[in-house]
Amino acid sequence: MVKDSINSLKSALPSGTQLVAVSKFHPSALILEAYEAGQRVFAESRPQELFEKVNSGLPSDIEWHFIGHLQTNKLKMVLPFVSLVQSVDSRHLLEEINRWGRDNGKVTDVLLELHIGAEETKQGFHEEEILDVLFDADKFANVRFRGLMGMASHTDDESVIDADFERIDSFMAYIVDTFPELEAFDQLSIGMSGDWETAIRHGSTMVRIGTAIFGNRQVP
Ligand SMILES: *Cc1c(COP(=O)(O)O)cnc(C)c1O
Repeated sequence: MVKDSINSLKSALPSGTQLVAVSKFHPSALILEAYEAGQRVFAESRPQELFEKVNSGLPSDIEWHFIGHLQTNKLKMVLPFVSLVQSVDSRHLLEEINRWGRDNGKVTDVLLELHIGAEETKQGFHEEEILDVLFDADKFANVRFRGLMGMASHTDDESVIDADFERIDSFMAYIVDTFPELEAFDQLSIGMSGDWETAIRHGSTMVRIGTAIFGNRQVP
């Protein structure tokens, strides 16, 4: 039951950790079930799917996050509807989000995705690229830097996951130390269905949980 999963996750999470329900590939009916259990923050990873769900008559006080790879030609399907883009993975994307915001009068909250896992997927910044961006933070007037997002290696080896999260946790601390002027930089989005318990030991302020709430995705 969606409701039971949400309740047990919520009672297990520390008070400083927000539950983000990852609803990608799940129908609106299940989102509504989660909503009725009190869940308000949902995340999608594909622009088209987000756009359809946002416009499908779901309650208007749902808060949407975007967590997938975002192509710059899809910004208008995403940016008007989300309170946070968690998956900014290149300077080019950041510049385009900033430009879109300038043209449309919006300041977009973003997380910078740090490449931590040993995955085939090369998605995400490296540490030094993030530092370069943050040294130029004042060039991005229509972006608000809120923190980091990361995905641990896809493995059952607890010590590898632990090391991945330790790396992003200490990099977060380094940034907060180095850029005290970034006052809103306080979010660390780590932890999914299989590794959220490890993530909260490393300071997660946001866990992104799909399968453990909604069951297996119906991937077409
Ligand atoms: C799909 C996805 C999740 C949720 O994964 P589960 O293992 O189903 O909890 C979290 N974060 C990102 C970036 C995702 O794409």
